[in-house]
Amino acid sequence: MKTKKQIITLALAIMALFGALTSLSAQETAAAGEKKKVTDGRDYLGNFAPKFAEINDDILFGQIWSREKELSARDRSLITVAALMGSGITDQSLRGHLQKAKENGVTKQEMVEVITQLAFYTGWPKGWAVFAQAMEVYKDDVSGSVPSETMFGPGEPNTAYADYFTGKSYVKSFFSPTEKNPMSVDNVTFEPGCRNNWHIHSSEQILLVTDGKGWYQEEGKDPQPLLPGDVVTVRPGVKHWHGAAHDSWFSHLSVGYYTPKDKTDWMEPVSDKEYSGLD
Ligand code: MN
Repeated sequence: MKTKKQIITLALAIMALFGALTSLSAQETAAAGEKKKVTDGRDYLGNFAPKFAEINDDILFGQIWSREKELSARDRSLITVAALMGSGITDQSLRGHLQKAKENGVTKQEMVEVITQLAFYTGWPKGWAVFAQAMEVYKDDVSGSVPSETMFGPGEPNTAYADYFTGKSYVKSFFSPTEKNPMSVDNVTFEPGCRNNWHIHSSEQILLVTDGKGWYQEEGKDPQPLLPGDVVTVRPGVKHWHGAAHDSWFSHLSVGYYTPKDKTDWMEPVSDKEYSGLD
């Protein structure tokens, strides 16, 4: 005869397992850019425990997880990972929720902080167990350490233009406009996945690629991959964006002429939908 506590623990474990299975569906859904109904409960337990399957699919994932106005998907992922780690569930079901957390915007550095802090509250060995899973989930994430071996070095965080970038960028300035020479030369470094918003320069901008792999796209045209040595001349008035590949740091020199009448109009961010198809 199982105790009440054992039964509750078993129920939590089963729910966590379905969370893991569901996260795979969520990944497909994100790629397709549309909401897909979760059916894992019915697929796996529909005949054996139809009520449990219905509650899993329709209530937990259909209604609770989707209440993003009340609590974001990212926050829901954080508390779910914390609950699973606290319960000692460190198997594939946790793995599924770590993957879901990554998809919901929790960065590698943030997840490392989460697990480090939770290890104090939930038990040190759980920290080890969860790190083992998180390392696998985030193994393709090379962000967090700015590469120092780039041709010109990354310089300083690009805080002045942070509002017009998705992700972190860095800038190293080599020449600022003077009265006689209204030219700017800067090296811009993008972390993996970072790109600037769609924008228009009122004069030419020349991009000279120095490190990593990135993308350049003009409105209405296909994105163009960029590698060291590539040069792009951006014509005045052309709406465009530039940035890193999702799995690589990227640096380019930007050469532009900035007389007092020159300007850059910053527009909407490059959406995840536009960016996600690039590899
Ligand atoms: Mn530009």
